[in-house]
Amino acid sequence: MAESLIPVRTDADILPAWRGTPVGDLLRHVNLGAQGGTGSARPALLITRCWEDQAPLPVPAGFALTLAGPGGVLKRSPFDVSWAVAEAGVRAIAVIGHAGCGLAGLRGRRDAFVAALVEGAGWEASAAGQHFDHWADLCEVADPAGAAAAEARRLRARYPALCVAALLHEADGRLLQIAP
Ligand SMILES: [Zn+2]
Repeated sequence: MAESLIPVRTDADILPAWRGTPVGDLLRHVNLGAQGGTGSARPALLITRCWEDQAPLPVPAGFALTLAGPGGVLKRSPFDVSWAVAEAGVRAIAVIGHAGCGLAGLRGRRDAFVAALVEGAGWEASAAGQHFDHWADLCEVADPAGAAAAEARRLRARYPALCVAALLHEADGRLLQIAP
């Protein structure tokens, strides 16, 4: 299913569901250049991002806690979000996929991946191949926006009191809203 992507160029573009929430604040910081700290001792937002997506997001120090997974998906790390809620105190999550995600098509790069583990990390080829075959299936992302949307749905069902949004990080650094 193709996801509906909604840009944020002004405050009015922020979807009603995210206005007045830490997700709305994230969109205002990143897309609209909003300044100002939170003044809170605890992070307001959990951001989940792809392993590859390392470009800094222009948010105030202490505003967000960031965790990483393939395509921003944490379903293989079931305790991470629980920790962020129970110990770090977050009540909102932004699942951020990104354009051009390399986890799409991961399985097609098996030979190079296995060779890199053998040559770069000292693995035996058979063990590296088995490792890849097991995990690449679980970590491959068919479509970055679709994976973020599915992860947001999963997290809403699992943590129903939280505000959970799916976003897409574009190459120009801006965030697109993925319609919930
Ligand atoms: Zn990625």
